[in-house]
Amino acid sequence: MTSKVVLSLNNLHVKFKTLAGTINAVRGVSYNLYEGETLALVGESGSGKSVSTKAITRVLPGNSTISGDGIIYKGENLLEKNEKDLTRIRGNDIAMIFQDPMTSLNPVMTVGYQIAEPLIEHQHMNKKEAKKRAIELMNKVGILKAEERYGQYPHQFSGGMRQRVMIALAVACHPKIMIADEPTTALDVTIQAQIIELLKDLNKEYSMSTIFITHDMGVVANIADRIAVMYAGKIVEYGTANEIFFNPRHPYTWGLLMAVPDMELKDQDLYTIPGSPPNLLHVPKGDPFSFRNKFALNIDLESEPPMFKVSDTHYAATWLLDERAPRVEPPKEIFDRWEFFKTNIENKSVVKE
Ligand code: ATP
Ligand code: MG
Repeated sequence: MTSKVVLSLNNLHVKFKTLAGTINAVRGVSYNLYEGETLALVGESGSGKSVSTKAITRVLPGNSTISGDGIIYKGENLLEKNEKDLTRIRGNDIAMIFQDPMTSLNPVMTVGYQIAEPLIEHQHMNKKEAKKRAIELMNKVGILKAEERYGQYPHQFSGGMRQRVMIALAVACHPKIMIADEPTTALDVTIQAQIIELLKDLNKEYSMSTIFITHDMGVVANIADRIAVMYAGKIVEYGTANEIFFNPRHPYTWGLLMAVPDMELKDQDLYTIPGSPPNLLHVPKGDPFSFRNKFALNIDLESEPPMFKVSDTHYAATWLLDERAPRVEPPKEIFDRWEFFKTNIENKSVVKE
């Protein structure tokens, strides 16, 4: 595992002003993204995965306020950049792809032109060069008859093909970092696997670092070098894929892993973590996970746990790691899923057409 840091988030906060009050969507997120690696961001809906990553290139609505100690990229603090610098960074350095490509593509512009445009704008190619390169990129991401399809509009593409267009657009300017926010959630399983395979190939070829947001632990096992688990606007556990799957330390992570369907055990109800996440308008005192945590300690009701160090690469924010805490073993259901995680980690060749 290489250890050169490409992007570093330090104590990032994002608040939204709403009619109901201020929503504390991201509450002090810190992590490193390392060169050539994929970091998976996981956690229930509303935990701040999208907002914390959108804050990096500041693609958030006007009612948001971003603050923190720094978002460091190439030795510079992105929090201090103006809109002009950020436009350049979004075009050249940090690309984003989202769940629904239709919202990012312009319905009245041809697909080909949408790929060519950033090449003209950011790479200073002339029209002819840009068209040639766009067609190359379309071929590369697996769009057949690219030359023909260059002049077609987004609605003439299937969901999977539109996501390929978004990926072509994202890699067109050779970004250092790719942020993929549930890029395959809207696609059916076979197409999902193909898109993930494509992303993995491109990440390797372009030696990009990737932040990958997903709900699917099978996908996480298949792509992640490291994993950050988010809960109520914070990272509650961060470690290498092996550490998170085979030595998870936070009870919330235990819950997420237990919620992975076990193919072997039939007639079994799917586990879900009891309760629901707190309302981020009024963040409760203490550990916001405590009221869903059957291992909660008295101190959980009083103060929010710091990040405890498990190893040089593994941290978790739970009072269970305090030396005064009783020793609690992870539920055995997690071990029942090890085969599934191992298969996904080892069998990195997902379905290919
Ligand atoms: P999901 O898995 O559903 O995509 P997520 O982890 O990506 O969830 P975010 O979209 O990052 O969650 O949202 C974090 C919190 O911020 C949520 O409580 C959400 O309601 C709130 N939020 C997001 N956008 C806005 C906004 N524009 N105005 C107010 N609150 C917002
Ligand atoms: Mg999201």
